[in-house]
Amino acid sequence: MAIALVNGRVFTGEQWLVDQAVVIEGEKIISICPTNNLPAGINQKIDLGGQRLIPGLIDTQVNGGGGALFNDAPTVETLRTMGAAHRKFGTTGFYPTLISDDLSVVTAAIAAVKSAVEQKVPGVLGVHLEGPFLNPERKGVHDASKFKIIDEAAFELLTSLNEGKTLITIAPELTTPKMISRFVKAGVVVAAGHSAANYEQTKTALAAGLSSFTHLFNAMTPLTSREPGMVGAALENTNSWCGIIVDGFHVHPSTLKIAHQAKTKGQLILVTDAMPSVGADDKNFMLNGELIRCEDGKLSTASGTLAGSDLDMLAAVKNTVELVGIELDEAIRMASTYPAVMMGEMQLGAIKVGYTASMILIDENFTLIRSWINGSEAH
Ligand SMILES: [Zn+2]
Repeated sequence: MAIALVNGRVFTGEQWLVDQAVVIEGEKIISICPTNNLPAGINQKIDLGGQRLIPGLIDTQVNGGGGALFNDAPTVETLRTMGAAHRKFGTTGFYPTLISDDLSVVTAAIAAVKSAVEQKVPGVLGVHLEGPFLNPERKGVHDASKFKIIDEAAFELLTSLNEGKTLITIAPELTTPKMISRFVKAGVVVAAGHSAANYEQTKTALAAGLSSFTHLFNAMTPLTSREPGMVGAALENTNSWCGIIVDGFHVHPSTLKIAHQAKTKGQLILVTDAMPSVGADDKNFMLNGELIRCEDGKLSTASGTLAGSDLDMLAAVKNTVELVGIELDEAIRMASTYPAVMMGEMQLGAIKVGYTASMILIDENFTLIRSWINGSEAH
């Protein structure tokens, strides 16, 4: 069944098209052609009302949504809830993110993601394991009593997901370059975060295959005059990605602007670090037995430590345009094309013939109108 999406302003990831239809069949985009010259065999036409059709957004760091926290219940049901909650805000692909926990919970999380991918739960692309192999010196809101050193059993566990992709956030100074290389060879994307690694240690890890930085600036060594730190190594390197949380709380907009100017184009990506509050009526929740309160959109513990965010991907794009001053096309790519490339998802993150039909229709206010994941519209 071929469906033609007509009368939209189409952003392919590279350019805007007008008077062009996007034709989808099954899970794929099979044609992009002039509206007045549709291919034969179209079964249905959908009028997009002149709104913007853009690549679906991909979130590589999302802890929860719709009232559910992945750590609390690492199940397929939680992934369905999270996916449905974030889909309303433009996310069509995500890596459910487990923060530091017991290895039994990590095992359950991997099993849940495997089942979700097999069952084609909309949006689930793999898993992001943020810990527990982190440095207590930069623990943030993580429970340091869960932290561990990577051993053979941990390596086996972290490389055990064979459906979908695995992203891990580790403190690279607490393991060896050889271990990082082994992860990369096993197909795992290795990110640094919650780390006290200095500039040299970070460079060593990059040489070993480290390819990403989790929430750049937060929970890592800063850029200073005589010690460039992890932030300096991340911005200097031309072959790695940096996730940023553009919620107005985690990083100052000017700092983000500097990062955007410094980092190689295509390597700064938007993430939410979202918590259960996104898409939920109750904005407060429990984390590690502690009440997290949401005040004016900011999530923090009683002592003031930031505890993830109440951010969604479309709000992140909007903030990137309006707070940071980055042009719309680039902000969209930072939320779609670039994370797809980072994770090796070469059929996602753009509207092109042959690509997976994961797309969203948004209005001028960055509000979602409709969304397609693998060619299927939300019900
Ligand atoms: Zn974190």
